[in-house]
Amino acid sequence: MKVTRPLLVVGAGIAGVTAALEAAEAGAEVILVEREPTIGGRVLRSHSYFPKMCPPTCGMEINIRRLEANPRIRVVVAAQVAAAEPTADGWKVTLALAPAFVNGRCTACGDCEQACTTEVADPFNLGMSAVKAIRLPHLHAWPRRYVFDRAACSDDEARAIAASCRYDAIDPTATPTTETLEVGAVVLATGWRPYPSERLPELGGGLPDVIANVEMERLASPSGPTRGAILRPSDGRPPARVAFIQCAGSRDVNHLPYCSSVCCLVSLKQATYVKEQLPEAEVTIYSIDLRTPGRNEDLLRKVAALQGVRLVKGKVGRVEPAARSLRLRVEDVEAERIVEADADLVVLATGMVPSAVGDPMPLFTRTDEDGFALDDPAAGITVAGVARRPEDVASSVRDATGAAARAIAAAARGR
Ligand SMILES: Cc1cc2nc3c(=O)[nH]c(=O)nc-3n(C[C@H](O)[C@H](O)[C@H](O)COP(=O)(O)OP(=O)(O)OC[C@H]3O[C@@H](n4cnc5c(N)ncnc54)[C@H](O)[C@@H]3O)c2cc1C
Repeated sequence: MKVTRPLLVVGAGIAGVTAALEAAEAGAEVILVEREPTIGGRVLRSHSYFPKMCPPTCGMEINIRRLEANPRIRVVVAAQVAAAEPTADGWKVTLALAPAFVNGRCTACGDCEQACTTEVADPFNLGMSAVKAIRLPHLHAWPRRYVFDRAACSDDEARAIAASCRYDAIDPTATPTTETLEVGAVVLATGWRPYPSERLPELGGGLPDVIANVEMERLASPSGPTRGAILRPSDGRPPARVAFIQCAGSRDVNHLPYCSSVCCLVSLKQATYVKEQLPEAEVTIYSIDLRTPGRNEDLLRKVAALQGVRLVKGKVGRVEPAARSLRLRVEDVEAERIVEADADLVVLATGMVPSAVGDPMPLFTRTDEDGFALDDPAAGITVAGVARRPEDVASSVRDATGAAARAIAAAARGR
């Protein structure tokens, strides 16, 4: 089978990187486009990942070595698909590239960071800490290049920052550019974003000590806002009672009607973060039911056996501030009554919203009723990872391998 046109992979999370590598290692030319300045997607923001509880970088490091070794993959970061039109044998795609305030000459030496005094909320830590306006986006950033939040700095400061660079790598006057590509087929691997907990005021969304599961990942991470200490945001003290609320906005027609499939496992995993760090803490996981398919059942058994962990079958209806804590009203299904319980920290197990929702990228030609993208074989579009359906890392990787094969076939076939 001969593929004469490159494949376009949109999104460089674990699914997109896998699809790009599998296709390139099978002989296809691949252009991997990522919106953020670095690759790796959401997984890199976790503290560790189930089932093996390894650091999120462990899989990514191998993938980066494979990427660097493969001349058939071109990675374009800080870029998005602005327009796409079908051609006789694929797609003509226009990429919109963000201004290259920092170019490829950057060595990540850090001199510019010293010259910068302006701080901004750190997007990598979900705004829970502050960083310099010019910085390495995170510890494991690839490409290993600084990013510059130019809009946050005055012209004078931007000039001083540029002057501090020995490599002439900073251009505060850079402007957006575009690039046009001709590709034979497309893999969409645009992933997800968290359902906003502020939309759940009844569950305390927006209160300082009510955090989302994605925030718990950053709190527990050594590169997070507290250097890995699980502390209450309101007073910086370790919580003695932590409550996890499952299906926070999920399986709920008012929010996300579907199950995000990983949230139960995520809360079980995060319960281990708490117990490892704060062995005396009481942890309660409130759920309608705990969904832990296949070998993930082992994690449920492990957590259920931990001292000080309670698994309560019950839906939390309300979370309100109480004296120096939070009060939960819960429909305890087994006790057949409404009960009240106090917690110092509440973690909302919020679900995954597909990137296709609210992000009208031209290549999302077909989506399901929840906004997950669907394969469009006639258009040469195939989907991988959470862009297709909520799933864990292992399933996203399997999915991406299949998507790479389908994309190669589509590009060879032509439209
Ligand atoms: C709190 C939490 C913890 C989790 N922990 C685990 C765990 O321990 N183990 C596990 O197996 N799974 C876990 N998961 C699930 C895991 O995060 C997903 O399986 C994984 O992120 C899927 O990878 P992906 O590549 O499909 O999507 P993403 O990680 O979302 O990557 C998508 C990439 O596409 C980019 N992108 C988006 N739109 C565009 C666009 N228009 N143009 C260009 N690029 C774009 C994004 O910037 C991103 O880099 C967890 C989920 C949650 C919510």
